Amino acid sequence: MEKLQKIDYYKKLGLKITPQRLAILEYLENNREHPSAEDIYNALKERFPSMSFATVYNTLEVLMEKGLIKEIGIDSSKKRFDPVVHPHHHFICRKCGHILDVEKDFDIIIPQELSECKILDFQVVFSGLCPECKED
Ligand SMILES: [Zn+2]
Ligand SMILES: [Zn+2]
Repeated sequence: MEKLQKIDYYKKLGLKITPQRLAILEYLENNREHPSAEDIYNALKERFPSMSFATVYNTLEVLMEKGLIKEIGIDSSKKRFDPVVHPHHHFICRKCGHILDVEKDFDIIIPQELSECKILDFQVVFSGLCPECKED
């Protein structure tokens, strides 16, 4: 999408667009690193010295409400965010914290215990050592 089209799209979603917010959106676009709020703040603070960490965090909250990003709770040390919102799974490296996307359909049989529940999402999490950490 062109930048103006994008701004229009975000406005239609009811997002107030500020230069900082736009920069956060751009940073997240096609980002497969599953950044934390700190990562995003650190990446942008030079360009926006007046931007506070709270701005980043609040923007992430709004983007989550609008369904543009998802929070992934597999890193116990910090919340990580994912702009890829279609269902997919993850691998997390126990050493460096790198998170990889796993784009595969797993056929899961809903267990009996959950038969009364309405399942909205599920996630398969692999953990171990990424190729780089495996070598050390
Ligand atoms: Zn690693
Ligand atoms: Zn992901």
